[in-house]
Amino acid sequence: MSIYIHQDDRFEQSETVSRECPHCGERAQLLPVATPSFEAMRAYRPRHVAIGFRCAACAEPRFTRATVRAYEDSRIELSANLVEIERGRERFQFSYLPPAVEQIFREALQCYTADCYNAFASMCRRTIQTSSATLGANAKLRWHDQFREVVAIVDLDAPTVRTLETVLFGTDGPMPEIQADQAAVLIETIKDMVYHCYIRTAKLRAAMKMRRYFAADHTGKITSIDHHTRRAKSA
Ligand SMILES: [Zn+2]
Repeated sequence: MSIYIHQDDRFEQSETVSRECPHCGERAQLLPVATPSFEAMRAYRPRHVAIGFRCAACAEPRFTRATVRAYEDSRIELSANLVEIERGRERFQFSYLPPAVEQIFREALQCYTADCYNAFASMCRRTIQTSSATLGANAKLRWHDQFREVVAIVDLDAPTVRTLETVLFGTDGPMPEIQADQAAVLIETIKDMVYHCYIRTAKLRAAMKMRRYFAADHTGKITSIDHHTRRAKSA
């Protein structure tokens, strides 16, 4: 598939493009709304050009960049490989985290989204350090237990486990360098660990509290009906 800008500025795209939207999360079609001018491109002959789309699901703007393949007399051909300038964010229920941990963990996920894998790895270690400082004496051990649990569930290979363990819990020596595939494992690992540490606990406590509240309420109603019946019988 190719994209063409014709002499009369007509934008031609032979196939529609659907992508996950960073705003609404839907996998929705990209509808072109701001396309390059043929004359301006002919005048400056850039090697790359920007195209503005809107999300078919939520109408928010989606910015992309395309490589120019060829300048012809009556049309300009662009590569169909549209590089999104605004990347989809990693989703997480941040509201369950204490503010200090939330700030560091948000930045950690932003580093991953920006493909800055080593910055991401450093921020993962800082997330655990920040959390451990607020959770008390055994926090670091608990974090380590959760790491071992993830390793056991997904059956990670030994070199990856060693690298990730040093990234998350190492105290001396330099941080190991992280590649894209290790970062991919690390992001699922740290998200699961943070989920277990804060969200699972909070949700379980809230669910338990709600169950007990309704159970007590239910018991209370039975008592009052029973009481009423006894009074009616004795009357
Ligand atoms: Zn959208």
